[in-house]
Amino acid sequence: MSVISNLSASKQTRGDSAPGKTAGPHASFQAAKRDLKKDGKPILAARNVFKSYHKGKLEVPVLRGVDFSISPGEFTAVIGQSGSGKSTLLHLLGTLDAPDQGEIHFEGRRIDNLPAGQRDTIRNQKLGMIFQFYHLLPELSTLENVLTPLMISSGVFSYWRNKRQFVERAKKLIDMVGLSHRLTHKPRELSGGEMQRAAIARALIAEPKLLLADEPTGNLDRKTGGEIMKLLSDLNQSGLTIVMVTHDMSLAQLAHQTVSLVEGVVEAA
Ligand code: ADP
Ligand code: MG
Repeated sequence: MSVISNLSASKQTRGDSAPGKTAGPHASFQAAKRDLKKDGKPILAARNVFKSYHKGKLEVPVLRGVDFSISPGEFTAVIGQSGSGKSTLLHLLGTLDAPDQGEIHFEGRRIDNLPAGQRDTIRNQKLGMIFQFYHLLPELSTLENVLTPLMISSGVFSYWRNKRQFVERAKKLIDMVGLSHRLTHKPRELSGGEMQRAAIARALIAEPKLLLADEPTGNLDRKTGGEIMKLLSDLNQSGLTIVMVTHDMSLAQLAHQTVSLVEGVVEAA
């Protein structure tokens, strides 16, 4: 639980995690930017990645040779116009889809060509994902939504054997994202910001090495978006590597690295 325990510890010492209490959502982000030390070995890399979609006989090229790498602990912003392929790229990085050509490497190992079962395991155990529209299950409470990755990855017997410990872990995370007063609420009873907090807790429950975020503040007002950014920034400072798609240049400029997609390739900074 390194990221989670680091975050809880830093929350206590800094005492600044309450929304709106700091110099602004960007303050700790800038600190993170200064502090990052690159150790040379990427945690994630895209190598000459191509991806097209097909509509009948028409081929729509989206990615045409995308190349970049991400160091452990880095906060990377992926930017580009609507339709430039940001979500497509994030899906490829998250093994939800496979490139037509090129390679994705994670922790020193090629992952895009693994059998589906092995890709599922990597996705469930090593990656966390959050989305613009949260993708929470509407019939489940906050606590149940946060527990779903463990239900899926453990199997029924193991889940029930370990349930008490899993629930404890989920409650800790829900507390960390500031939602402990909404444990039994269903998504429709939560605000947008609260739904994204629940989705972040769910993304972290399996202790991922990498968080992939697709426009996580895209459906939130500025203040609420700032609070979510503060949470992501705190997680990054606690050691979590984050790749975030965003439209918002003011957020992108504060990341360690910006990957700008233009006409299917990464535009030089
Ligand atoms: P972004 O996230 O940057 O807005 P996307 O990656 O969602 O862009 O989409 C890139 C392009 O690919 C768009 O032109 C979109 O219409 C097209 N596209 C995305 N998904 C599909 C799909 N499943 N089938 C066909 N075309 C798609
Ligand atoms: Mg998109």
